[in-house]
Amino acid sequence: MTTIPKDHPRYAALLLRDRLAAAMREGVLAPEGLIAQGRGEAFDYLLGEKTTESAARAERVAAAMLLSARRPVISVNGNTAALCAHQIAALQEASGAAVEVNLFHRTEERMEKITALLRANGVDVLTGESERLIPLAHDRALCLRDGIGVADLVLVPLEDGDRCEALRAMGKDVIAIDLNPLSRTARTATLAVVDEVTRAVPAITGHCRVLSAGEARQIASSVDNTPFLKEALAAMMRHLEVINDALE
Ligand code: ATP
Repeated sequence: MTTIPKDHPRYAALLLRDRLAAAMREGVLAPEGLIAQGRGEAFDYLLGEKTTESAARAERVAAAMLLSARRPVISVNGNTAALCAHQIAALQEASGAAVEVNLFHRTEERMEKITALLRANGVDVLTGESERLIPLAHDRALCLRDGIGVADLVLVPLEDGDRCEALRAMGKDVIAIDLNPLSRTARTATLAVVDEVTRAVPAITGHCRVLSAGEARQIASSVDNTPFLKEALAAMMRHLEVINDALE
């Protein structure tokens, strides 16, 4: 691990980069995961590297949806495990959701390493015989019949658009955590939380801890993703205007 000075203006982002690079060396993260993080960082830069007011509201809605679902599942990939395994454990505890590992660049070795990392951080991970239950040509089609297979709601931090669309076509609700409001994932999800995953997951957990069942049901009964996407884009445009004005 590189020592990053705490007073560095981009300390938090550099820490995450360092964590992901280490995870790649350990075989938890596929090299492509670093590229996905880079794309996320670029959008986070446009947001000012902070949780916007609309993302904070989306996080409350996400918590309500998790609490109201019959069979919620948190689908974890390499980036999520490397960045926030302990935060996933807290979210699982607060929401009662099952956790399943699902990988685009799937190998048995990576499945085992990610499962071990999650378990070491206190996550109760579903395992078993995966089946091709999602209509996709690649390995993200593989999932557990009693996990994502029966889920009515899937939380997909850092998803690719194909699977989000396929899950929606199967009649499931999808919550995406994605810094890119333009991605197919963000646009096809039932709800997109446009925020950095290590900021979003603890915020959702916090709401899960305080929302009553009645409040959660009421909030989850009418979810409209479009205003959240528009507000994320508006926040980015405002941020760009501030920077632009400062140049004049
Ligand atoms: P799509 O197929 O949905 O259009 P994509 O091809 O960009 O999206 P990926 O390459 O799988 O999908 O990238 C994953 C997404 O995760 C990217 O949109 C990126 O913005 C987002 N992302 C990456 N790192 C983070 C992070 N730390 N927190 C939140 N979002 C992130």
